[in-house]
Amino acid sequence: MLRISLDVDGVLADTMRLWIRLWNRRSSRKLEYEDLVEWDFWRRLGISGKEFMELMRMAWRMWRELPPTEPDLADKIARLRALGRVDLVTARPRDVEKYTLLWLEAHGITFDDIVWMRSSRMKARLDYDVFINDSPLLLEGCALKPRLLLIYDRPWNRNIACEGGLVRRIRSLDEAHNVIREMLMK
Ligand SMILES: [Mg+2]
Repeated sequence: MLRISLDVDGVLADTMRLWIRLWNRRSSRKLEYEDLVEWDFWRRLGISGKEFMELMRMAWRMWRELPPTEPDLADKIARLRALGRVDLVTARPRDVEKYTLLWLEAHGITFDDIVWMRSSRMKARLDYDVFINDSPLLLEGCALKPRLLLIYDRPWNRNIACEGGLVRRIRSLDEAHNVIREMLMK
């Protein structure tokens, strides 16, 4: 059976929307979503990785206000699950795991398993046939072994070259479904 790894932050939960709201509340340097043009965008704000994560934690604690990336996530994920096993694979601080589960439940999202990682860089070491992710950090790892990497289009990953082949840019989960289905039919 096809094994699909599905990311949470930036692919299901639009965590950065809430992150920006929290940032703009406390900083005079206002940000917009489209300003986040690099994975490590926060470095240019002069804050530490720890400060970046603290706002991420705060965003997850406010999980009721955390928007989904696109409408009808539950149905779209159910359709993906008809193609194979779908595990949510997510890197996050342990203390926000419970909020993540509450958010997933509130949005009616079902999955086969949930895998908690220490860092998203490690995800590519896992044994999946397909990764759906917004992070450029998976590129290296996915190149070691042939499998499909579907980059979920976000401002911070637009600098990744997706020229067909095993790295493809997708703009929605339905597009992911289409690409995977095509692959299975080959
Ligand atoms: Mg992500």
